[in-house]
Amino acid sequence: MTPDDVLGTVIRSHLSELSEQEKAEIFAQKIESPAVRKMDEQSMLQWCKASGFSDNAIEMMAAANGFLGGLMYFSALSFVRVGGNYGEMEEIAGGSALLPAALADKLKSKPRMGCEVIRLERDDDASEATAVYVEENSIKREVGDFVLCTIPFPVLSKLDNPFSASKHRAIREFSYVSATKVLAVTNRRFWEIEDGIYGGSTSSDLPISTIHYPSDNAQAKTHAISANPSVLLASYTTGNLARHLAHLPEQERYRIVQQNLAKIHPQVNQNGTIQSMESWSWDNHRWSLGAWSLIRPYQQSSLYEHGIAPEGRIYFAGEHTSTNQGWMQSALESSLRAVQEILVEASKA
Ligand SMILES: Cc1cc2nc3c(=O)[nH]c(=O)nc-3n(C[C@H](O)[C@H](O)[C@H](O)COP(=O)(O)OP(=O)(O)OC[C@H]3O[C@@H](n4cnc5c(N)ncnc54)[C@H](O)[C@@H]3O)c2cc1C
Repeated sequence: MTPDDVLGTVIRSHLSELSEQEKAEIFAQKIESPAVRKMDEQSMLQWCKASGFSDNAIEMMAAANGFLGGLMYFSALSFVRVGGNYGEMEEIAGGSALLPAALADKLKSKPRMGCEVIRLERDDDASEATAVYVEENSIKREVGDFVLCTIPFPVLSKLDNPFSASKHRAIREFSYVSATKVLAVTNRRFWEIEDGIYGGSTSSDLPISTIHYPSDNAQAKTHAISANPSVLLASYTTGNLARHLAHLPEQERYRIVQQNLAKIHPQVNQNGTIQSMESWSWDNHRWSLGAWSLIRPYQQSSLYEHGIAPEGRIYFAGEHTSTNQGWMQSALESSLRAVQEILVEASKA
């Protein structure tokens, strides 16, 4: 059996027990049916065990599935939600940064960068909400009819917030995935010239987890591009592995990545192949403090509604408030929901 066979069997055997109506509830905000509630209550690991697979088979499947494999202790419901998008990923040619730039282009009132929100305030009697922020060392206030807050919950938990106890609990307890990426600048695309790998990824059970190869030369396979310097995503880790790498001193992190990368691509130990390395840990970055949110068992039924509920005139959006957590699409979907909620509230005035 291949890793895909194991994963496919686990998912199919459980989903085949659901009626069409129950399947339609998988992305619902409020889950009514006992069968989908059970998906919220069980971890993905429990599903794998219930399908009769050995620990070795589960480990093989997890190692071969990159970041999906790191989600065994999250709920089966969240695994199915995230996994549902995994096979159909598209790439924005030219880089993902083009998406927010294109959205910003359409806005009449442009986003103001460099403003750190330090406090939210609400005045329910006046039907107002305020964002207090720091811009160029000055504390400023923006008062409005509504505030739409998309700050990731780990960051929001550090702010001075006028929220109910249930909202505070949701902000504290929403679980987030850890992720670390280590990039290597190389003097040539040895993986293309010498190994014939054009795009795609290599998953492993090494501490570096998954290697991702640039896709920009995957179709054309132009030799001149292969022969020029490039950037390799030498290690993309989630969960424990991401935290372990993130906590190492920088040079030690790079040494371990190179050492393990060499087990798959020995060329990286040739003098001059790796020119430099850079890394990013979402856990350690002050504006994220985690990579993306993903619910653990029981969190959809006990926490989610409190996470998205407005607090006075403060409304909430962002990928963490979507039932389709973890994607750019999640952030877009959540903002549609929140804007609809705001319009309904505004129409009551
Ligand atoms: C490693 C990794 C890989 C991913 N891969 C993919 C992928 O392949 N495809 C995909 O669709 N999605 C992917 N995602 C998920 C996607 O990036 C997120 O779901 C999406 O960016 C969430 O958008 P958001 O607006 O909710 O949050 P964010 O993009 O996190 O935006 C929140 C913003 O709030 C700002 N902020 C934080 N604190 C404050 C404050 N106090 N004051 C003011 N501003 C503040 C932050 O600087 C940030 O700009 C990936 C995420 C990670 C971490």
